[in-house]
Amino acid sequence: MPGMRVEVPFGRRKVVGIVVAQQSDSAFPVDKLKAIDRILDSEPVFSKNLLSLLLWAANYYHAPLGEALATALPTALRRGKPLPSEKWWRLSHHGKGLPEDALKRAPRQAQLLKLLQQGERSHRQVLDAGISTANLRVLSEKGLIESYQQTAKAVVIDTTNLLREEPLTLLPSQAKILDALDLNSYHAYLLEGETGSGKTEVYLQAIAHILNEGRQALVLIPEISLTPQTLQRFKSRFNCPIAVIHSGLSDGERLSAWSSAANGSAGIVIGTRSAVFTPLLKPGIIIIDEEHDGSFKQQDGFRYSARDVAVMRANREQIPIMLGTATPSLESLYNCQQGRYQHLHLTGRPGGASQPEWQLVDIRKLNLNTGFSQTTIVAMEQALARGHQVLVFLNRRGFAPTMMCHDCGWIANCKHCDARLTFHQSNPHLRCHHCDYRQAVPPTCSQCHSEQLQYLGQGTERGEATLEALFPDIPVLRVDRDTTRRKQAMSKVIAEINSGKPCVLVGTQILAKGHHFPNVTLVVVLDADSGLFSPDFRATERLGQLVTQVAGRAGRGETPGRVMIQSHHSEHPLLALLAEDQYPKFAEQLLAERRLSGMPPYTNVALVRAEATSGHEANALLEEARKYCQGIVASRPSLRYLGPYSAPLERRNKRFRYQLLIIAEERKLLHHVLGQLSLWLETNKTARKVRWSLDIDPQDMS
Ligand code: ADP
Ligand code: ZN
Ligand code: ZN
Repeated sequence: MPGMRVEVPFGRRKVVGIVVAQQSDSAFPVDKLKAIDRILDSEPVFSKNLLSLLLWAANYYHAPLGEALATALPTALRRGKPLPSEKWWRLSHHGKGLPEDALKRAPRQAQLLKLLQQGERSHRQVLDAGISTANLRVLSEKGLIESYQQTAKAVVIDTTNLLREEPLTLLPSQAKILDALDLNSYHAYLLEGETGSGKTEVYLQAIAHILNEGRQALVLIPEISLTPQTLQRFKSRFNCPIAVIHSGLSDGERLSAWSSAANGSAGIVIGTRSAVFTPLLKPGIIIIDEEHDGSFKQQDGFRYSARDVAVMRANREQIPIMLGTATPSLESLYNCQQGRYQHLHLTGRPGGASQPEWQLVDIRKLNLNTGFSQTTIVAMEQALARGHQVLVFLNRRGFAPTMMCHDCGWIANCKHCDARLTFHQSNPHLRCHHCDYRQAVPPTCSQCHSEQLQYLGQGTERGEATLEALFPDIPVLRVDRDTTRRKQAMSKVIAEINSGKPCVLVGTQILAKGHHFPNVTLVVVLDADSGLFSPDFRATERLGQLVTQVAGRAGRGETPGRVMIQSHHSEHPLLALLAEDQYPKFAEQLLAERRLSGMPPYTNVALVRAEATSGHEANALLEEARKYCQGIVASRPSLRYLGPYSAPLERRNKRFRYQLLIIAEERKLLHHVLGQLSLWLETNKTARKVRWSLDIDPQDMS
């Protein structure tokens, strides 16, 4: 039956396969076909809808079907392990013949007998009825009862006591949105509302409605370990079991979360990207929080977008999907314009806090104190003196992104990449952020042996050091991937912030991910320039989202916030729009630019990547690929080929990287070309020496 796992011979090995279809005849000669050795499941591991979603996704992303199916299965099931089962008890043949009042002298045993006379019971249910394992042993030794293993049965959500706490009374703007939702069929909603405008409360109440109908909710969020608060809010609102699915789980934990979603016992499933493929017994709603976040796109292997797959899934299941964010992606805004999504706005903040005041700080010609202008420092002093907290955003880890010799200009580069090594001060070393190559800090310049080595630019470590020197009496908390690697590290930082005492937070975009920092009243963006002038056409969009998100952390309590953005281009019209707190206008402007340049979301693009130890080989393959594609569909205004060209980071981890971009007005045409191209690549001789990949709707062009 489609969706079941089977064991099949593969060469000399036996491998686990998944039945995707059943056919009574085949184009292959019968003696070339092999028989299935063993069926591993008694029921499909993928429902019909989920299987068809996976088939669609493999097709859409031009990925091998096996890879797509594997992404959706916990490792244990991929390896052929049985579905988790439970011990159940029932009367034996002998036990069934006993009269009802047998065993009168042993009341517990009599109770057990009576329980099983009413029907089979799981081990847990028997224990919950107050019967000990000793009683079970006695009766089973007497041959009156017997146990058996059974995969988890479908569970009905208990709707009698769903809420653990009273829901908040909705504000009129929230109530209006909930009223507008049609939760009984497929609709895609884009819920736009600034940070703190009450989106999560809307999700919670929509979910309560779904749970009450005995259906399940799937919630996708960018990163769980960094946002423990979000998870906590769901847990403190609902009594029902919540399955949490993310990359940090052990195989066993993942399997148990997976099966609680599949058998319906988990009313809510919260997870990161890959959770979009979690089976649900009774799907009721899908919610994607921070829909603009780049982490929903997988960047290697099966390169799917969990957001887009989720919309497809909701459509197949005929359930609503809600995409929430303060800074909608251009794709989602475009989908609203096209009438595919319905655009809902949440305005104002429930706490009554007012809009932050923005200030662009022109740092041209200024004397900076390791990156900080005097204006910024004074503003920080004032905020701290009032007992407030300050957040400094700096999108680079480490101490300094460049080490240079002052005497001859030599720069420490990575051996394997076209990239500079970043100096890390804790446990001093130089590290490449692209291939993770590490080396000791040389005592002198490798070219002229001078000792005048300088560190250029700002990383979070340096920001931390500078801030500690500026504000010796105030705790400085650094938050980046290096400090949050350890479990619980983020919870500790959040606890410290929630204590409300003055402190300075310095960190990377992790700080922009859905945190609630009510006492932060000043946000400093140290350098907004890199996002404005990047070869990646999505960089500006990301900058706008990031700055708006970080700014959204300011002034969530009673005090209004202030946002200071340091830039060498403070007159840039896009920055000006952001500074007016007008992400919608900013996005509108970017959309107009994308339309003019014929880029997504107005067109559909696919990126063909090639990597090889020689740049020539990678380039040659893509040249050939382009010629091949042009043979299928010649270049024309509605289908363009850009490249091949070298990737912005041409050499990474000893390999040279080239790209070919295919841009099509019509998705169908693009698919047609890609379908043929992937077959061609799979059989092409040059392609064997080159690592190649297809990326549909690419997010990261580096
Ligand atoms: P968002 O998800 O948009 O960032 P939240 O739902 O987290 O916003 O709401 C921000 C804050 O406002 C939270 O502390 C929340 O408890 C509070 N809040 C939300 N809705 C209401 C409401 N209707 N009444 C009172 N407080 C609310
Ligand atoms: Zn030198
Ligand atoms: Zn490197």
